This record gives sequence, structure tokens and C-alpha cells, in this order.
Amino acid sequence: MQADIQSVLIDRAAIAQRLDQMSRQIVADLHGAADLTLVPILTGSIIFVSDLIRRIPLKMRIRVMSVTSYPGTATTSRGAAVEAALDKVPQSLAGQHVLVVDDILDSGGTLRLVVDTLRRRGPADLRTCVLLRKQIPSAVATPVDYVAFDIPDHFVVGYGLDYDDYYRNLPDICTLRPEVVRAGS
Ligand code: 5GP
Ligand code: MG
Repeated sequence: MQADIQSVLIDRAAIAQRLDQMSRQIVADLHGAADLTLVPILTGSIIFVSDLIRRIPLKMRIRVMSVTSYPGTATTSRGAAVEAALDKVPQSLAGQHVLVVDDILDSGGTLRLVVDTLRRRGPADLRTCVLLRKQIPSAVATPVDYVAFDIPDHFVVGYGLDYDDYYRNLPDICTLRPEVVRAGS
């Protein structure tokens, strides 16, 4: 696995330091929320959300949702869809303060879909948080409340992010050697 890495873009120490900072901001903003529900978007956010929630000492529920957009070895979005079987968010969010947590903002399709879907369920408040945002117009134009890191337009893996479902367990955020990412897929 290590041999497939081209470079480390953000290492584990930098991630931890930034999460300390970002979680303080989230706690300051949400400390008054009576009924807080976190919605991690599977599967890419699993490591991020597990590190984030342990820095947020507020009473919260966790309700996952899954959105498919990058099937298999694709490295560009093929259109986002909520997976009904993996939508554990209640149909009514009345009175709830919701924080959506996703791994990376790229085309913005995933976050827009999730926000539209959840807004129809009537939450009292709906915020969004991503680990990474690519410095491309579609991502920068997508409204989001919390961004841990802005990154260049590279395909990255690690810290939850995959290529063909591999590499999620890398502790740092990395780029892959070009020969690993199959051309044109
Ligand atoms: P969007 O819907 O904003 O185009 O993309 C969001 C989803 O695409 C992310 O949740 C993630 O699963 C996937 N994605 C986008 N860019 C990357 C990337 O650079 N690396 C990986 N591994 N996944 C990405
Ligand atoms: Mg994802």
C-alpha cells in the first residue's frame, strides 16, 4: 500500500491540529442546540467523523446516510444518488439541529443532494462540514459552513477517502502514483 503513494498532502498531525480548531468553532456555534443530529455521509467520512465527534462534547445522535457518486475506479463524479437502504436519517427532523459531515467537496453534487433531501425533512437548523474542499469553481461555489482544508484539484486518498474502496486506512491524506490510478477511468 505504501508503495502506491506519490506524496503526503496533509499529514496526521496537521489534521489533528486543524480538527482541534474546527471542533472548537462547531461547539461554540452549536452549544445551544437542544437536539443535535450528526449526519455522516458514508463511507468516506468515517475516519473524519470519528475524530471530530470525540472533540465535540455535546449530546448528539448520529444518523448515517450513503450517497453514491464515484463507482469503483472512477475518479470523476458520475452523478449523486441517496442509497435508500443506507438512509438512517428520520423522515421528520422537526426541531432538530443537523450537522452534515462529508469527506470532500468536489463537484458539489453530493452535498447539494444531501442538503436538499434533509431540508425537506424540516430541521430547525442545517449545517454542513467537510474535511476537504477542492480549489475548483464547482466546489468553491457550493455553500458549506465548515471546511477543514482547501486543497488543489488532485485526486486524494487516505483518512477515509478511497480509490476503488482501497486506501481508506492510510492515516494521512495522500495522492497516488499515476500508474495506480488507471488512465481514463
Ligand atoms: P461531489 O459530489 O462533490 O463531486 O463529490 C463528493 C464525493 O466524491 C466525495 O464524498 C467523495 O466520495 C468523492 N470524491 C471527490 N473527490 C475525491 C477525491 O479526490 N478522492 C476521493 N477518494 N474521493 C473523492
Ligand atoms: Mg463520499
